[in-house]
Amino acid sequence: MNAEQLSVALLAIEDRMMWDAAATFRAATELEHRAAELGDESLVVRARLCRTNMRLRMGELAVADREIHEIYAWAVEHGDRMLLARAHLVWANIDRLLGDAAKSLEHSLSSVELLDDTATAHMQVWHVTKLADALGFAASMDDARVRYAQAMEIAQALNEPWLHMQVFNNHAYLEHITGNPERAHEVSQRLLSHAEEHGFEVDAAILDTVAAIHIANGRYAEAEQTMELCLARHETGERDDADALAEYLLTLAQAQRGLGDTELAQQSLDSSEAEAVQRGLHEVLVRIRRERAELHAARGEYAEAFAMHKQFFEAHEQLHSQQQEAQARTRQAMFETAEAREEAKRFREQARRDALTGLRNRRYVDEELPALIASDPRLAVAIVDLDHFKRINDQLSHDVGDQVLVQVAKILDTELSAFCPDGFVARLGGEEFLLALPHTPPAVAVAQLETVRRAVGSYSWAGISQGLPVTVSIGVAGVCEAAHRTQPGVLSTADRNLYVAKRAGRDRVVGGTAGEEPALAYSARAA
Ligand code: GH3
Ligand code: MG
Ligand code: MG
Repeated sequence: MNAEQLSVALLAIEDRMMWDAAATFRAATELEHRAAELGDESLVVRARLCRTNMRLRMGELAVADREIHEIYAWAVEHGDRMLLARAHLVWANIDRLLGDAAKSLEHSLSSVELLDDTATAHMQVWHVTKLADALGFAASMDDARVRYAQAMEIAQALNEPWLHMQVFNNHAYLEHITGNPERAHEVSQRLLSHAEEHGFEVDAAILDTVAAIHIANGRYAEAEQTMELCLARHETGERDDADALAEYLLTLAQAQRGLGDTELAQQSLDSSEAEAVQRGLHEVLVRIRRERAELHAARGEYAEAFAMHKQFFEAHEQLHSQQQEAQARTRQAMFETAEAREEAKRFREQARRDALTGLRNRRYVDEELPALIASDPRLAVAIVDLDHFKRINDQLSHDVGDQVLVQVAKILDTELSAFCPDGFVARLGGEEFLLALPHTPPAVAVAQLETVRRAVGSYSWAGISQGLPVTVSIGVAGVCEAAHRTQPGVLSTADRNLYVAKRAGRDRVVGGTAGEEPALAYSARAA
């Protein structure tokens, strides 16, 4: 499989709405392996997003959340606009399942705003539809309707009648669950005539929604008829979810009760319960109890109706608190992964600091300096070395030596942040430090480092070094004047200038192009 074929295979997953989640997850995993073999990172990440989306459908919310962060970061870094748009759509689903309608809406908005000419027809229709759904879930049905209309216009313009039908379906469902039975009815009727016009067979799941809308409008005969068709479709449809049968039988029972056929309703309800028990569908079981109460009431059996209502209520409460607990657990898991990320960041940060002085260390310099050199032609770098430091160690103690190092580090840091807040100080090792000064021409750097040198020398060291003077020699190099604009190039120029400073008597700053006479042109003598 070459890259182009892989991309086509991925698109078949990306631009599809009904999935067998587990099978699609396996397919996406396989595609990710192949993309990795090809070494095509962008295909790898696309495949990964497909997997994340399937995880979501399989209920693995916390893992999906962790993965979406990584995919999103990759897409931002590589400016992959369509991947970003798709990632936002998946993220919107994660937040909706977590009950955060506001965040879900934000992601849905981004998933639409990012669309451009390169978006597929599916994306153009579906992202707008999902934005409409998010608006509906966030209790803004007026805005949602505008977006549904827009999605349908796009579907029509792009000649995508099948997608158009899906938009009808989502719109009808949202009208239904937000308590607008008449509008829901009107949209569902448009759905049915659209399907007929284009010769589409309407899925069982859609028919169940249509019937529920009939019931909400008191149209029980139509509901019953629709449910008979729905159950027939369920029998023959390969794509339909096996768990859905309990749901369908419950809707049928509601229609039959509405028609006054309490015997038939009872039978449908019994079958629905048997299915729900066998498949462990707690949420459906709770709704079955409520329907039993309604059925008792319809027969005038008020004592039984009351008892059943009480049972329903208890079961409902229990389910609700279980759902809340599950949600809380997921949030906790997500928090923990966020915390683990923070922890890793802290650890990374720690590994780039010097334990004695708390300054950055050589590792940090090696990681950060090359990019700084490449991006800033006016970067100045200085190497600071303590003068006759060995004497302090030898005449006093290693411990006093350490205290001197800590104090020098403090002075360097304070001084630098006063005149160059963008810069940094690092301890390269031993009694040697590095200062990076962005946007500083060499002559200016020498003058500023002269202040640093004086600050060290004039510090009242009596308390630490018992009268022994503490001074530093400093070698400076500007990126623009270094032989090569590379880390070794800049550092060796600074090092040679440091050597010149030491040879000239220490306690001084030397800049310029070392190895030639003019090195001393920038030199600042000890005061
Ligand atoms: P110069 O002016 O030529 O730089 O002389 P110097 O004595 O400073 O240079 P030299 O390189 O001869 O000695 C550096 C000393 O720094 C040697 C080593 O014992 C000491 N040193 C290195 N790291 C540490 C440390 O972490 N703590 C302490 N107390 N001493 C250290
Ligand atoms: Mg040294
Ligand atoms: Mg030294």
